[in-house]
Amino acid sequence: MLNPKTTEKDFFGFVGAVTLTLGLPATVLFLNLCANDVYKAEGIKVDAEKLQLAFTEKILKNPMELLFNVSAWKWYLTWFFGLVALGQILPGKTLQGVELRDGTKLTYKINGLAVVGFVFVYLPSSYLSHGGSVPELVYVYDNFWPLMVTSFEFSLLLSCFVYAGSFVPLRKPNGKGTRERILATGGNSGNVLFDWFIGRELNPRIGSWDIKLFCELRPGLLLWGLLDLSCLYHQYKTTGTIYDSMAVVVALQWFYILDAVPNEEGLLTMMDITTDGFGFMLAFGDLTWVPFTYSLQARYLALTPLQLGYKFILVIVSIMALGYYIFSSANSQKSKFRAGKLPQMKSISTTRGTKLLCEGWWGLSQHINYFGDILIALSWCLPTRTETLLTYFYIIYFSSLLIHRQTRDEAKCRAKYGKAWEEYERQVPYKIIPYVY
Ligand code: NDP
Repeated sequence: MLNPKTTEKDFFGFVGAVTLTLGLPATVLFLNLCANDVYKAEGIKVDAEKLQLAFTEKILKNPMELLFNVSAWKWYLTWFFGLVALGQILPGKTLQGVELRDGTKLTYKINGLAVVGFVFVYLPSSYLSHGGSVPELVYVYDNFWPLMVTSFEFSLLLSCFVYAGSFVPLRKPNGKGTRERILATGGNSGNVLFDWFIGRELNPRIGSWDIKLFCELRPGLLLWGLLDLSCLYHQYKTTGTIYDSMAVVVALQWFYILDAVPNEEGLLTMMDITTDGFGFMLAFGDLTWVPFTYSLQARYLALTPLQLGYKFILVIVSIMALGYYIFSSANSQKSKFRAGKLPQMKSISTTRGTKLLCEGWWGLSQHINYFGDILIALSWCLPTRTETLLTYFYIIYFSSLLIHRQTRDEAKCRAKYGKAWEEYERQVPYKIIPYVY
């Protein structure tokens, strides 16, 4: 059967889907209310009176303008579809994804570097042509709230569009008749809300435009970078200088973005592309959650300039460098091993023909790459010092996400590899952080 029914629903099924659909946007709203232009978050406790004032100031004052902001919609649609157009027009290499359940493979155009290159040429040219001002960055900073709400509304519409589209049969490649779409194994429960939330179709596409791969790396990730730059520019405009805390946060986060976008082919074998459907969870996560929560540190620093000194900066950069080294060398070791380039390394054979590496990075823990990611997350939070827990939200959330991801991956590998996975667990008992977890 091409599309088996989903029997085990992830995220506690319907209840989890409803809770997350309401809870995730509420969390983004809450965090940004705490980091708003008027009041700042204070330590762990949230001042309810200030929060209420911020709520009145930002939301109740003019709710219709926030909910249906024509200017923000125009900006967002230009941004989103401008990036779609760039992805289609700019040159790139063509790669095939993993084999799908019907034995076919999808082709992907990989040109993230060209798209980022375009953005990097565009911003300085805007600076030069506007006599030393960048109106795009000013707009993004000044319209943070309308853009956040618009991106949320857009993700709602997009997830409804792909859900409805998942019921429309596809034309056969030879043009004769139609065929079923491939659905995500976890998103075909028959429960409308759950399937809409988790993603019913595995790879929704319009022509050659792959909506999931595009959303994973372009509009949200680059908007996060743009928001960071807008905060840096705001600080420069209002204080006449750029504080070292802001410079280090923006530099480290852009380093991560610049590393992720050109390496988009690595995503083709990741769980998000190979297994997960594209629904509200991914659409909202990619388009709203990533830009509007990952930029919290820069946003906080735009309102609270901090000078850290070179010694603390050195510590922060070292943590990022160590994290990046672990993350990238572990990932590269696994892909080289899987490509048959490291035959001398100790491994466990499986009945599926593949082998499980149990030496080097993959002998230290089952997901040592996640540990690298957690160190990177820490390096982004530290520049805000310890004034507020708000800017540490990222590491708290991201560590929980990686632990949940590790449990999902473990369940998948246990079912796929059986005894070989049990042997791997015996030889490599730690899940993420060696000797800790
Ligand atoms: P992994 O890179 O750890 O890949 C897990 C898969 O690798 C398993 O399903 C299995 O797949 C295979 N595998 C597991 N153990 C072994 C082994 N010992 N030897 C060989 N193959 C093995 O996880 P992800 O795909 O989740 O993450 C990839 C990267 O992306 C990580 O660095 C992660 O930190 C990062 N990431 C970043 C996020 C972000 O928002 N910044 C979000 C999520 C992840 P198979 O079925 O092929 O055997």
